[in-house]
Amino acid sequence: MSTDLLTSSEKYDTIVALATAAGVGAIGVVRLSGVDAISLSDRIFKSYKGIPLADVPSHTVHLGRLGTQESLIDECLATVFKGKQSYTGEPVVEFSCHGSPYILREVIKLCLANGARLAQAGEFTQRAFLNGKLALNQAEAVADLIASDSQAAHQVAIQQMRGGFTSEIETLRQELLNFTSLIELELDFSEEDVEFADRSAFETLLKTVKERIKFLLQSFSVGNVLKNGLPVAIVGKPNAGKSTLLNALLNEERAIVSAIAGTTRDTIEETIHIGGIAFRFIDTAGIRDTEDQIEAIGVQKAKEKIAKAAMVFYLFDEQESTPEEIIHFVEENYQKDSHWVLLHNKVDLPTEANSLFDESILQAVAPYTQTLLKISAKEGTHLAALKDFLSSYAQKLQHTADATMISNIRHYEALKNALEALEKVGEGLALHLSGDLLSIDLREALYHLGSITGAVSNDEVLGNIFSKFCIGK
Ligand code: GDP
Repeated sequence: MSTDLLTSSEKYDTIVALATAAGVGAIGVVRLSGVDAISLSDRIFKSYKGIPLADVPSHTVHLGRLGTQESLIDECLATVFKGKQSYTGEPVVEFSCHGSPYILREVIKLCLANGARLAQAGEFTQRAFLNGKLALNQAEAVADLIASDSQAAHQVAIQQMRGGFTSEIETLRQELLNFTSLIELELDFSEEDVEFADRSAFETLLKTVKERIKFLLQSFSVGNVLKNGLPVAIVGKPNAGKSTLLNALLNEERAIVSAIAGTTRDTIEETIHIGGIAFRFIDTAGIRDTEDQIEAIGVQKAKEKIAKAAMVFYLFDEQESTPEEIIHFVEENYQKDSHWVLLHNKVDLPTEANSLFDESILQAVAPYTQTLLKISAKEGTHLAALKDFLSSYAQKLQHTADATMISNIRHYEALKNALEALEKVGEGLALHLSGDLLSIDLREALYHLGSITGAVSNDEVLGNIFSKFCIGK
């Protein structure tokens, strides 16, 4: 889709697009939005009751014939939204037709012949934003909602769409704006050396705003996991059973299982949904010192995956590992804020009884993790316990989700930039800098905060955001 900027007259064109998925369906919806949506519809649609759509009340549905005098395209329902009461904030008509791609194509062609133009990606939602129906971050949440494929992603998106932290950001911005105006007013009276803005009250406000921004920034790590899933790295020596475990969890033979050491060279990613969260499993090459070039890359990749993962499954078996090796591996690779699950695999195999094997590991790795499960990936033993662990982990994460959580990288960047600017304002205040210098950084912070909700925006940013939407949304 092109991100061509819309001219102001185009913003008010009547646009048309298929609102349902392409392909054959029970029904297909063609959506029209714009000042002429209703008059255009009256040229191509005749309701069986004989009342023009221009004369029916808003939010009503009408059965009728769609087509030209000469040829009927379909018998369908027209839903009418009038005035500003629609999704886009302008007149909208939605034709619910029989879901034949041919019919839907013909209906769109007829709308085009009658003066509409094809909508660009996300243009309906863009209009909702431009007409003040949605803040920019709410509009973005609409795209997230459509893309959501887990309960958690859905929960985050729907909270954002219903307002999320919009009002909080707007309040913070308004308070900062009031102060900025007072400081800028002083500039007009610079000869007289007056201070309209109470500096200590300003410092208090600044502190509050910075704390809130920091809180929102911190919420991003959880928000991002809820939205995009939790990356789990499966690591361990070659032949520890990583592929077997992944297959068992996925219940399908995606990864290559082989008795020859070091065959899982590429990383494979698979997603399973447990407790409403998408766990994104990353299978990795066995970690060991190796001379083999290709495998060395695999080993490096495994280390990189650990770095990117929020959770690490470390597999070992008693036949091939010593507690010392395992402890050493955890100590060497553990990263702060990641959750490690030690999986003692192959418990179906006989071992020389060492009742202290697991205990000695747990004792030594206590600063990092206390989760150790005995499993047999091959036999499926205790995999239910592992899934239960993931399920309760998912539930804990979901509980932390609330309306003031951020999950969008654009919002994260904007908040980070706003915080940086506010830090500079704080430094400026401490140095008793003049109002004109403070105002520069304040304006910068206001700009970044405003860019989140769209209080300030430019066509390039909007083009970027809405081009990621689908056509018809
Ligand atoms: P990876 O290199 O870590 O991915 O290991 P694989 O999943 O390819 O497994 C290596 C070998 O160990 C295969 O022959 C598996 O069948 C076997 N294996 C994996 N898990 C178990 C288990 O729980 N018990 C037994 N007995 N063998 C297992």
